[in-house]
Amino acid sequence: MKFIHDKNLHKVNLPIKNILLMLCLSTTAYAQQTIKPVAVEAGVSFELAKYRHSSISNIQYKLDFNIPAQKANEIVASEQISFNLQSNEQPLQIDFKQSPDHVKSLAVNGKTIVADLREEHIVINQQYLHRGANNIALKFIAGDASLNRNADFLYALFVPDRARTVFPCFDQPDLKARFLLTLTVPEDWKVLANAQKRDSVIKGAQITYHFNNSDQLPTYLFSFTAGKFSDTSRLAGRWRAQFLYRETDTAKIRLSVDSIFKAHGIAISFLAGWTGIPYPFQKVGFVAIPDFQFGGMEHPGEVQYKASGLFLDGGATKDQFIARSNVISHETAHMWFGDMVTMAWFNDVWMKEVFANFMADKITEKLMGKETFNLKFLQDHYPAAYAVDRTQGANPIRQQLANLQDAGSLYGNIIYHKAPVMMRQLEQLMGSENFRNGIQEYLKKYAYSNATWDDLIAILSKYTKTNLYSWNKVWVNQPGRPVFDFSIAYRGGQIGKLTITQHPETGEPRIWPQTFSITLVYPNRSQNITVNMNSETLTLKAVEGLDKPSFILFNSDGMGYGVFPADRAMNDQLFTLNSPLQRASAYINAYENMLSGRNFKPSELLKLFAQGLAVEKNEMNLRVLAGYITNIYWEFISPQERPAYTTLLETATWAAMGQQTAPNNKKIMFGAYQNIYLSDAAGKQIYQIWQHQQAPEGVKLTEDDYTSLALSIALKSDTATTVLQQQRSRITNTDRQERLTFLMPALSPNVADRDTFFYALADRRNRQKEAWVATALIYLNHPLRQSTSIKYLPKSLALVEEIQRTGDVFFPQSWLGAVFSNYQSKEAYKIVADFLSSHPNYNPKLKDKILQATDNLYRAQKMLK
Ligand SMILES: [Zn+2]
Repeated sequence: MKFIHDKNLHKVNLPIKNILLMLCLSTTAYAQQTIKPVAVEAGVSFELAKYRHSSISNIQYKLDFNIPAQKANEIVASEQISFNLQSNEQPLQIDFKQSPDHVKSLAVNGKTIVADLREEHIVINQQYLHRGANNIALKFIAGDASLNRNADFLYALFVPDRARTVFPCFDQPDLKARFLLTLTVPEDWKVLANAQKRDSVIKGAQITYHFNNSDQLPTYLFSFTAGKFSDTSRLAGRWRAQFLYRETDTAKIRLSVDSIFKAHGIAISFLAGWTGIPYPFQKVGFVAIPDFQFGGMEHPGEVQYKASGLFLDGGATKDQFIARSNVISHETAHMWFGDMVTMAWFNDVWMKEVFANFMADKITEKLMGKETFNLKFLQDHYPAAYAVDRTQGANPIRQQLANLQDAGSLYGNIIYHKAPVMMRQLEQLMGSENFRNGIQEYLKKYAYSNATWDDLIAILSKYTKTNLYSWNKVWVNQPGRPVFDFSIAYRGGQIGKLTITQHPETGEPRIWPQTFSITLVYPNRSQNITVNMNSETLTLKAVEGLDKPSFILFNSDGMGYGVFPADRAMNDQLFTLNSPLQRASAYINAYENMLSGRNFKPSELLKLFAQGLAVEKNEMNLRVLAGYITNIYWEFISPQERPAYTTLLETATWAAMGQQTAPNNKKIMFGAYQNIYLSDAAGKQIYQIWQHQQAPEGVKLTEDDYTSLALSIALKSDTATTVLQQQRSRITNTDRQERLTFLMPALSPNVADRDTFFYALADRRNRQKEAWVATALIYLNHPLRQSTSIKYLPKSLALVEEIQRTGDVFFPQSWLGAVFSNYQSKEAYKIVADFLSSHPNYNPKLKDKILQATDNLYRAQKMLK
């Protein structure tokens, strides 16, 4: 009974609990049976987390880090952890994933003892502890991998379980604590942390900053950034906010900084309004970090962003502006969803992500209008969710997690993209007011505490008549998607009967209750019909007696989830459909059918989509078409067939660039041309554009675009060294210069240079900048380089386990994606199949990642015979 995981246990009246304790302890045999000490094992097991949650409370960390100017020098640190212990019948495990020599001293309740550090835990015998208040004092060398140290800046990034690699702590999301931080840094460094700076003291070449006590935070949200940054403070709406950045491009700064503050203000006031809860933390602050691992990370008071996502210049596309507003809204939404109410265990990490995306989408909807929003929602979420859900490695939204050390593998497209689709269907099912009332109750009830998905479903169930538990099973607890089919009978020129069916693409029979629209398309008009698909088969009465259409467009409102029929009869009218949303849905349906081997061959779809390049005027849709075209061209057209399509596509993209009138559309076409070109003539043209920095008429190219062009030239010609060296000398920002320097050997015309670069990635130190590594891998494994890079595949697979252990949460996925996204041969697939069959006991979550990343390869090698 004592070890039952009950988040309210520590709130139980102490006297009763103590009586229970004594009862248990009074019978030795019984005690031995029931009080089995939690095993000391690597990571943070669910069992350990449960036990600690039931016995530890009221945690306060005092942390003091001394950060030297030289990156190579150790960070000396000291710490005091005070907490309340409700029961003291087993040793205390404090997480610290470092070698024993990192601990310099340890005192428990004033008594100095020798640290017993094993299996990533400092184990403290209960003889030194007592029920009630305890204090542990440590001096140690901070682990610095998750402090992301650079020559003149560093940033702490601990999600999901990296705090324990840096300092001793209880690294689990349901043991929230306050952090009283002191940072000593070189005198000219700026600092930003969760709480306000209280004061600072200069000592020689160093300065010590004392911060106020933080709000209640789980360890994964504790963070700080320090280094050479520009520091600015302005209003974000009604909030005074601080912003650190390293950008040096004055145009980018001038065009971006105001917008960044403004977007935070908009997001905060929207969320405060929607939730009915004011901004829940003591301050607002954010920092732009060059080549940050994620788009952003939601530490309260110190949100970290990837700098390139925040700083846009005159050449930025609409897409980039929307993405910026979206990432700011996403991280801001986390202040309520994830930061204020936190998941009890990382298996529910998807909940904070789905709400952050869901709320960010609502803000985007408000800024852009419903129509653009619906289009963006469809394009952002559906293809990305399908990319995983159609594979043999598909995972459900909610997964099991036995040990926190595997938490990173829960992240992926399903939680970021299928979950918002599910949530929108849930909102539709409940009605938006009921849904919002339920969420508000949930936020109030669990504020500054933790909750599970079951807690939320229990609250939402009060606001609807639908049985959410069975709905939950198919949408949340199981992977996969439905395939829709239809049959239609005509009577004369009219529809007699239309039947729609759904069945699972794979796995046991089940249905996905959902609503979506179909559109009957006629030569000069169209008619929308809503389909409430709550069963396996549905006869749609609403269409009976209506005129026979030219074709039926399925999922025309973009709400439905699955593989929908794509009628070839639509080809003639596809690009003249009035609604951009309908066209986007048609493109997606056609592509999904192509992958499923229904209706379209890759070459047919390539030709069809190429016809749309000059006529599709919607920027977001044009991007979808260009993406599908480049994807089919490299992945589903064989190298022997490809030259025939090169001519077609070089001509089509260049012509469309001239015919499109909007600058962004022209730029998308230029990007597609740059991606697909192979002919000598095109090569000369691209080289001229880069060499003279003279963009085609109406296209605006920035320094980043010219860097990208230089990389393309290096890939597709033999002049790599000089082109890249010249480009490097043109770049003024040192962060961007370093990136190009890193990439250069991966683009070398010399196979030996590329081999050396690749095999050096086995050393963790060469993988520190994960975004750079992923980019390098894409170039290394480009179809034009595969004859010499296919030999990297076994090693790339062999490294995945280590990458998961040592890298950040998205790295296994981005590593695998960068390596495999362009292979298509049987030989390449065999390497994957052999790897999996020779590792029968491989970590199942990583195996899923491999199956996800190699799904297109699996399909391509079957199609290409
Ligand atoms: Zn997030």
